[in-house]
Amino acid sequence: MDYGHYTTQTMEETVALTNGLANGERSISDDELEELLVRFGTWERGIDIEGLTHLASRLRSVFLADDEADQARILNELIAFYQPHPTITDHDGQGFHLHYGPPGAGHLRMIATSMTMAVALVFCDYGADRLGVCPDCEDVFVDTTRNGRQRFCSRTCANRVHVARHRERTRSE
Ligand SMILES: [Zn+2]
Ligand SMILES: [Zn+2]
Repeated sequence: MDYGHYTTQTMEETVALTNGLANGERSISDDELEELLVRFGTWERGIDIEGLTHLASRLRSVFLADDEADQARILNELIAFYQPHPTITDHDGQGFHLHYGPPGAGHLRMIATSMTMAVALVFCDYGADRLGVCPDCEDVFVDTTRNGRQRFCSRTCANRVHVARHRERTRSE
């Protein structure tokens, strides 16, 4: 399942930011954050860690929401708050694509508008089922499988639960 080049890439970054900053203790390093920000083409000195953490926890709440109506409501709040401003650009020979922050926006608004719009597009075009939370480690993930049946964030978590269940079963036999 490919959500389109830009959306797929932005969703990967959304998941990395959200899990790195908003699932328990911070697990993303300054270097990794910097790398992520640079990929948005908005590097400026200093990382607004407070702003990014707020963004990450709001994005996480979209994945955790009870139902679709709640997810739509939170996404609309994010859109109202970060105010996407779509602009077509073709910088660095990348071909025409949309940026959701206005030209010259600081990195927080650039990253927040891009991530908000990527999640909103997946939600509207592919369905809420695509936005998952891992039952093992509670990381969020985006389901990119063809049949939309991904349950865990990674093979590691899926295997861990599988092995644990298998042990339980053999013990009770
Ligand atoms: Zn770009
Ligand atoms: Zn997991």
